[in-house]
Amino acid sequence: MKKKKHWYDYLWIWAILYFALGFFNILFAWFGMIDFLLPLGIAIFGENKFFCNHLCGRGQLFSKLGGDLKCSRNKPTPRWMSSKWFRYGFLIFFLTMFGNMVFQTYLVGAGSSSLREAIKLFWTFRVPWGWTYTAGTVADWVAQFSFGFYSLMLTSLLLGLIVMVLYKPRTWCTFCPMGTMTQGICKLKNNEKK
Ligand code: SF4
Repeated sequence: MKKKKHWYDYLWIWAILYFALGFFNILFAWFGMIDFLLPLGIAIFGENKFFCNHLCGRGQLFSKLGGDLKCSRNKPTPRWMSSKWFRYGFLIFFLTMFGNMVFQTYLVGAGSSSLREAIKLFWTFRVPWGWTYTAGTVADWVAQFSFGFYSLMLTSLLLGLIVMVLYKPRTWCTFCPMGTMTQGICKLKNNEKK
């Protein structure tokens, strides 16, 4: 029997739309905060991983591309990728990079640094992205955060696509920082109850 579809089964479209919008206007990058705050909120207040299981457009996109469209070699995910040290190590690295991005935003807001209309891929390669923003539309720090946040989102998407092709469709989920954080929160909450 075919599983009944829910509206949230189509959130993979949102994942594509998000990156497409950021190609035309970088300020749409702020919408990515939903994918940041919602899973944390659900884990803290709902004490479950409903976001990962049903609401994550990115996870769904990997399933679609890697599973339905067979863009994945479907090889087993290397064990070390799901090991604790790698998952928590990657989380710490990711949060450090997030913190650095927020700090850059602060510097621009404080006037000590000027707005850079570029994105940075893999925390290394600067790619000009100026056509997506008209100077002066919003405060410089608002725009700087958009460029920084979009860089982070696009970099993690590309990493996810690479491991999707190399291994299983949803290999990214084994070490995704959001997944690691929500899992940690749910564990802590369960321990508290016990
Ligand atoms: S682990 Fe990350 S990518 Fe995977 S479903 Fe959860 S939030 Fe989405």
